[in-house]
Amino acid sequence: MKTDTKHEQGRRDFLKHGAVAAAVAVAPGVLLHTVNAGPRSEPVTSKNRWGMLIDTTKCADGCNACVVACDEENGIDMLRKPEGASDEEWARQKPRWIRKVKVQDNLTGRVTNLPLMCVHCEHPPCVDVCPTAASFKRADGIVMVNRHTCIGCRYCMMACPYKARSFIHENVEFQPTISPRGKGCVESCTLCVHRVDQGDISTACQDACTREGHKAIVFGDLYDPQSELAQALKKYPSVALRDDLKLNPGVRFSGI
Ligand code: SF4
Ligand code: SF4
Repeated sequence: MKTDTKHEQGRRDFLKHGAVAAAVAVAPGVLLHTVNAGPRSEPVTSKNRWGMLIDTTKCADGCNACVVACDEENGIDMLRKPEGASDEEWARQKPRWIRKVKVQDNLTGRVTNLPLMCVHCEHPPCVDVCPTAASFKRADGIVMVNRHTCIGCRYCMMACPYKARSFIHENVEFQPTISPRGKGCVESCTLCVHRVDQGDISTACQDACTREGHKAIVFGDLYDPQSELAQALKKYPSVALRDDLKLNPGVRFSGI
């Protein structure tokens, strides 16, 4: 079977080092399987709440580094354009866990660039409407989809006010171990949960943004007062998008 070289190398590293990706959480505090003892051996708890601060004043117009990094991290770049689909159709249909959005204040004309992804609501409507409980929120605040029980009804996509979810229309030939997907399932940003569960406090989008020199994204534990995120939130004014909905997202924005 043909394989993607980069992700196949990643798979070999995964197997070689044995202890990585030891546990995959499928529901709050519930682990799908455990292989060896990895850095995380305890179920997730509500002692942490993972989130982000995105400084829109640092987000550069035309920069797409976070989107590309997310695609590569989660194997979205391994999905192939369906036969017969035009480039425009594929651009519309392709899953997007993070996308660049331009917001213009019509009164002043001021334009703000921001990356938008699942904001990991404390009270997630996607979870409320899911008929199979495939959409779930972990104890540490990360909102995910269990691809084993998702029936593809897409209620969650309609319920999400941030348009953060994507539906997989196409056959899936290649996928990385850390981010399995299947045709007919819905998916969205997991805050790089595979990293978090290995004790790595970084996300692919944050790393890419930092590499580009913009440093617009800070990821971390909202409940840890010493974390870079908590310190930044204390220092700079920030807002939750659509705060009027009272969903209390874990991802906040400054500079808008
Ligand atoms: Fe669910 Fe959308 Fe909130 Fe993410 S942003 S938790 S997908 S409602
Ligand atoms: Fe739940 Fe899947 Fe339906 Fe979304 S598409 S509401 S995750 S079953």
